[in-house]
Amino acid sequence: MPEAANVMDRLVSLAKRRGFVFQSSEIYGGLGSVWDYGPLGVELKNNIKERWWRSMVHEREDIEGLDAAILMHPKVWEASGHLAGFTDPLVDCRQCKNRFRADDPRIKGSPGQPDAQCPVCGSKGMLTAPRMFNLMFKTFMGPVEEAAAVVYLRPETAQGIYVNYVNVLQSSRQKIPFGIAQVGKAFRNEITPGNFTFRTREFEQMEMQFFVKPGTDQQWFEFWREERMKWLVGLGIRAERLRFHQHTPQELAHYAKEAYDIQYEFPFGWQEFEGIHNRTDFDLSRHQEASGKKLEYLDPATTERFIPYVVETSAGADRTALVVMVDAYHEEEVAGEKRVVLRFHPAIAPLKAAVFPLVNKDGMPELSRRIFDDLRKHQKVFYDDGGSIGRRYRRQDEAGTPFGITIDGQSIQDGTVTVRDRDTLLQVRVAADGLAGYLAERLRS
Ligand code: ATP
Repeated sequence: MPEAANVMDRLVSLAKRRGFVFQSSEIYGGLGSVWDYGPLGVELKNNIKERWWRSMVHEREDIEGLDAAILMHPKVWEASGHLAGFTDPLVDCRQCKNRFRADDPRIKGSPGQPDAQCPVCGSKGMLTAPRMFNLMFKTFMGPVEEAAAVVYLRPETAQGIYVNYVNVLQSSRQKIPFGIAQVGKAFRNEITPGNFTFRTREFEQMEMQFFVKPGTDQQWFEFWREERMKWLVGLGIRAERLRFHQHTPQELAHYAKEAYDIQYEFPFGWQEFEGIHNRTDFDLSRHQEASGKKLEYLDPATTERFIPYVVETSAGADRTALVVMVDAYHEEEVAGEKRVVLRFHPAIAPLKAAVFPLVNKDGMPELSRRIFDDLRKHQKVFYDDGGSIGRRYRRQDEAGTPFGITIDGQSIQDGTVTVRDRDTLLQVRVAADGLAGYLAERLRS
């Protein structure tokens, strides 16, 4: 797919040029599959996370927030099954020393057999038989680097929720069904990372674990499946590029009874960026057993005791940001000129408006600065007085800024300015005094 590949290349280059995403430690040649967010990228990702938090935590009575630490007691990962089972099968090429996932589609033949061919150097019969490799990053706690001091960087945020489930339940006085939501970093020593920020070794998750009475789990699973899809469409992602993929028995994780991925049609194919999982009572039962602490729920209405089932919605903040960028990216022709525009939903656009004095004289810069100073108390806005007005519009189109505010000669006379809409290109005159309200109305939802 040369055309599709080119779209990704152009997006990656735009992301760097305009300050969305930079490679980590670039001046040292970069660190593999670790990325940094620049001034526009951090705004975009924060807006996505805030919107998620608002819809999950603030707008719901039955979900509480949590911010658990990245480092956890190592026994957590024993109980959760990650120490034994969070592994990928790996093969090495004895010729070129590269390492691959055994299921890498580029490998021809069966690794370990004479017919297997290395996808990098092309040697035959040099690929080792698959060996299991744990994806968790290890580090040491305290001054001694010995086995007893090993701790892990969490590979998912969910476990921080499970081990705090009783704390949250008791302190918030919630009753089942209820949920706990968390946004935070997770780390996986991925073997075949790539596709820009799609698969990285450090990333952020937005996870919500919903605790329900066994027997009601199926109904809640359906509920959250629909809710999450609605939320993504509300984020402005084109519905025809979204679909569910139900996990086959072979794909199901060790803890899951049923699972759906939400996939997006990237230029490199349909890929998961969020999952809804019925994790049953697997995690809480394992933690109860391993810690010796009761994690049962006592139903006040029926006095029944049970370990709740968990329905999880697990999204990657970085992957969602990538979906949003890919979906927003458009190349089009306007008045015979090519323009690149990021059509972000205004509510998550990094910059909400840009303020332009038409020329740098005749009182226009002074009025423009006053408008800019007023607007930035309410929204993230940008001031630009460099170059022709057309070029300034184009720069904001590339940044995905929904509104361009131009202060011209008439503005000095009657206090009105023009507001240009990024998508329709229509310009309307609006009283400068009413601009904050005008923007707020269009940025809501
Ligand atoms: P994959 O099959 O792509 O490795 P997964 O099924 O292991 O993902 P989950 O464990 O369900 O993923 O994680 C939930 C979400 O976290 C994913 O949908 C994705 O958005 C995000 N995520 C997981 N691994 C990564 C990664 N290496 N880089 C970026 N985001 C990730």
